[in-house]
This record gives sequence, C-alpha cells and structure tokens, in this order.
Amino acid sequence: MIAFSDLRTAAYCPRKLYYARKGDRDPPPDVAERRALAFRYDELVDAPDAAFAGLPTDVPPERYRRNLRRARDRFDDWPALVDPPRRDVRLSGKDCRGVAHKVIEDPPRPSLVSPGSPPEEGVWHPHAVHAVAAAKALAWERERPVETALVEYPAYGTVREVRLTTRKKAAYRRTLRAVESLDGPPPRLENRDKCNPCEYSDECGVSTRTLRSLLS
Ligand code: SF4
Repeated sequence: MIAFSDLRTAAYCPRKLYYARKGDRDPPPDVAERRALAFRYDELVDAPDAAFAGLPTDVPPERYRRNLRRARDRFDDWPALVDPPRRDVRLSGKDCRGVAHKVIEDPPRPSLVSPGSPPEEGVWHPHAVHAVAAAKALAWERERPVETALVEYPAYGTVREVRLTTRKKAAYRRTLRAVESLDGPPPRLENRDKCNPCEYSDECGVSTRTLRSLLS
C-alpha cells in the first residue's frame, strides 16, 4: 500500500522520493499554521485588513478576500468546505492510503490542503496525482464513483477543482508504477525548474552538474 505523500513526491521526481525515504520527513513547522487557514475561510472571507495581521497569508488581504469570494461563488459545496463534516480523514484504497484534510459529502469528494502557492491555473502536477489517489481511495471505501477532488492553497485563499479525467488517471497509474518499481536511485531529472528548489539537489549532485553544463 503506497502513501499519498510518497505518490505526490514521486510525481514531482521519483529520485526525490528515493532520497526522502532515506531521510527525515517531518514537515517544516509553519506547514500546520498555513494549513490551519483552510478552516478559517468563513471568518476571513469578509474580514477587515487588520484581521490578517500576523497570519501566514502570502497575498494582500484584498486579493485574499477576492480569491475566497471567487471560490464561494464557484462551488456549491462551499458551506461544507468551510465547515467540513469530516477532517483529517484516513482513507485506504486498493493501492494507496493517506489522509484527506477534508471529506465533503453529497456528492463525496476529498479536499487536500497545500501549504504552498498555486499555479496560474489548475493545480500542480504532484497535487493532481495526489488528488486522484485520494478520490480513488474514497471511491473504494464508499463503493461508488468519486469524480472530482479539491486542492486548497489557503495561504492564498485559492481553491481549485481536480476532475478525474482519463489523462489524470493515466498520470496517477504511471506514478504508481514508478513508486512500485523503486528499488534504487532513479535517473536525475535535469530540470532546473524542479531541481533548483529541491531540498536534495546537493545530495543528488544536480547543482554541480547544472553549473558544469553552464560553464561548458
Ligand atoms: S535535484 Fe532534481 S533530480 Fe535530484 S532529486 Fe531533486 S528534483 Fe529529482
């Protein structure tokens, strides 16, 4: 049984999962603080600027409120997203298991809360793979289809929907196979957008290689 977090890491880079499995995997201390914002939308959606002082938000209050109002207008299940009937729910599917930060009902769908920033549109690829895994695990438990999941970026007040399209399910299966076959360090990505922010870049040797290629 594969952990959602392993799948998400492998979707970013299988080699990163190889390093993560060998080391310390405790999340940084500010992750919990940022995730906690996902349970304060009702209070923040119309809050005055002063209410944002000291909060770990990454956009100005005006933009934060605008993002939340957009989500409120877009999603019919907004009340359940704001005050979810089930929080930090352990899900166990056929292939993967892990925690969904929220589970919403009628129709059921999981929501995952990221401490980071959203892309311009949609969700990051590792989050899409994680969302498919959570939706499939929920579907397995409920013995009914789950067609969508949500990914929240509460430091930005942004909520995005992930539809379980054929393409996304194929990406999920590809990542699953990559994790299942991991028995040594996979090849480096040689992708600066991914490798530069990667916490294992020194250990991986990518920085040195990239520098060398820049100098050659
Ligand atoms: S530095 Fe790049 S190749 Fe190495 S683990 Fe990180 S993302 Fe993967």
